[in-house]
Amino acid sequence: MAYDFDLYVIGAGSGGVRAARFAAGFGAKVAVAESRYLGGTCVNVGCVPKKLLVYGAHFADDFEQASGFGWSLDEAQFDWATLIANKDREINRLNGIYRNLLVNSGVTLHEGHAKIVDPNTVEINGERHSAKHILIATGGWPQIPDIAGHEHAISSNQAFFLKELPKRVLVVGGGYIAVEFAGIFHGLGAETTLLYRGELFLRGFDGSVRKHLQQELTRRGMDLQFNADIARIDKQADGSLKATLKDGRALEVDCIFYATGRRPMLDNLGLENTGVKLDKKGFVEVDELYQTAEPSILALGDVIGRVQLTPVALAEGMAVARRLFKPEQYRPVDYKMIPTAVFSLPNIGTVGLTEEEAREAGHEVQLFESSFRPMKLTLTECQERTLMKLVVDAKTDKVLGCHMVGPEAGEIVQGLAIALKAGATKRHFDETIGVHPTAAEEFVTMRTPVAG
Ligand code: FAD
Ligand code: NDP
Repeated sequence: MAYDFDLYVIGAGSGGVRAARFAAGFGAKVAVAESRYLGGTCVNVGCVPKKLLVYGAHFADDFEQASGFGWSLDEAQFDWATLIANKDREINRLNGIYRNLLVNSGVTLHEGHAKIVDPNTVEINGERHSAKHILIATGGWPQIPDIAGHEHAISSNQAFFLKELPKRVLVVGGGYIAVEFAGIFHGLGAETTLLYRGELFLRGFDGSVRKHLQQELTRRGMDLQFNADIARIDKQADGSLKATLKDGRALEVDCIFYATGRRPMLDNLGLENTGVKLDKKGFVEVDELYQTAEPSILALGDVIGRVQLTPVALAEGMAVARRLFKPEQYRPVDYKMIPTAVFSLPNIGTVGLTEEEAREAGHEVQLFESSFRPMKLTLTECQERTLMKLVVDAKTDKVLGCHMVGPEAGEIVQGLAIALKAGATKRHFDETIGVHPTAAEEFVTMRTPVAG
């Protein structure tokens, strides 16, 4: 049977655009549908605008530290509206770049909400298009628990477009988004409370990293409330919000920001017209080839709920395009040793196993850890410390994990990830000459294991 397209991609986010462009480059006839914004979450309400706001917040530290180096400034002033307007301009520019990337690679762009009407047909803007393969790359959406007054809370989607910087912000959650946005609000001058339901935030990260960040955020004056959860939210006569906690305490703030995870975006997608199955958490179930239970339909990225990171969605998009249209170049995505950063202030960078994971996997673990005040701060009053940690297999000498909390941790760990992926041992680290004077050289000069 002749189809209108070889591949119909639903969602022009990180994974969808990558799959569409590469498939078209391999000679396939490709369409992509996008209902909201080109570039998806990462470009519009994710990684990119978030990182711009983190840069903005970081200036608070720079201004504070400048006097130690002889600079004097009148009191620094911050204007939220300028930052948001400049950020919006940059995002508009990126939207244009994504449009050009798609069009120039020969992909047909359909702007509107796409619905699957049968396993080989997509309906959009009242028109139906047939395709040999349909790729679901619809991403995720913030999830706010259904507590009384939840409609008064915002998510990351709204945070990027607030008209003004709230004076007092309560951030709920203990994952990437909560920690990053708490740092943004706090750095830009809002009185910030981070409220997390568990003992310590960033579950799944190395224990030393979690504790170190807790100390650093406390030192910076952020209010961290752990073992706490909101029972209800009430809007008060003066417009402020009252959060009543499950333990009966109440907090009064101007903005409550929920960052409590993301659900797959499957709204009105028409999955009921297909044999696609969902997993226990409601994400689209796929096999190792991103194949759903419906033979003509594939899925990738956040909607499959594996690793919700842009570079992973990109790698999955590339793998799908190659498998379908350039099978001789197909290589499966390797989910081991995925480096990641949390752009908190200070940043976290991490790759490989945490100490806890290494022990659980049965490794005899050797730990190397260093906490130090970076050279840049020695002329300042700032007492911030950087943490570096290596998790090593005592038997094979293989470095299992590298973890860091400190300036540019993400930048540093990206390089280390290559070494770990190549199977580096502690001896390789020891024999590597440092770059002096840098913070990163500490990773190759830690000689004495700490008591584990
Ligand atoms: P998305 O990028 O979400 O794209 C899905 C697209 O599909 C969207 O554009 C949507 O409008 C469209 N769509 C949905 N349904 C339909 C439909 N029916 N018809 C047509 N179009 C549809 N990752 C990192 O690696 N680093 C970071 O620093 C980082 N920061 C983040 C910060 C925040 C606040 C958030 C929310 C996420 C962040 N992420 C980060 C995660 C990253 O954004 C996602 O992992 C990535 O965007 C997933 O790509 P995707 O292609 O699966 O989906
Ligand atoms: P995460 O899954 O990282 O964290 C969710 C947090 O919310 C956890 O602390 C969780 O607690 C808590 N939580 C979940 N449900 C509830 C509830 N009902 N009540 C109270 N607390 C709750 O999600 P995020 O929303 O922060 O981010 C989504 C994903 O986006 C991330 O996992 C990451 O993959 C990606 N991302 C990546 C970034 C980066 O690379 N820098 C930045 C931002 C996002 P508990 O731990 O107890 O379950």
